[in-house]
Amino acid sequence: MANYDEEVRSPTFSMHIPSVVVLKDFVARKDHPPFTRFNLYLRDAFECQYCGSPGYIRNYRDGVTLTLDHVHPRARGGHKTWENMVAACASCNVRKACRTPYEAGMKLRNKPRIPTERHLMRMAKAFPPNFLHETWRDYLYWDEDLSE
Ligand SMILES: [Zn+2]
Repeated sequence: MANYDEEVRSPTFSMHIPSVVVLKDFVARKDHPPFTRFNLYLRDAFECQYCGSPGYIRNYRDGVTLTLDHVHPRARGGHKTWENMVAACASCNVRKACRTPYEAGMKLRNKPRIPTERHLMRMAKAFPPNFLHETWRDYLYWDEDLSE
């Protein structure tokens, strides 16, 4: 935590705006990052957790539209938690519908877990400069608290 400021101001690390958002939350809660859309997508590297399609930003020309998928369907008692939600492209989400991944014959690329701040920082740094820039405009969208 001590050298966080230094890290986000590194010339090679340009996720300036979301870092501010994330930093605010990190300061408030050190045990684990807040459960927001941005952090969830970041945990999942902005990739569909079923097919791996990149969805860097909404409607970005080279990416797919990312959605939030309840691994165990919400309609069947699945909760809105880090462990039950993943980034999924719109087509995988539609295909999976109200089924578990097993029922739908779809495999999760990573087991969804509560991320550590260290993990999110590492994920953020993996993106090239300005890569996610367009996503930062809509703070309310990205900073939405997903917890119930
Ligand atoms: Zn997909």
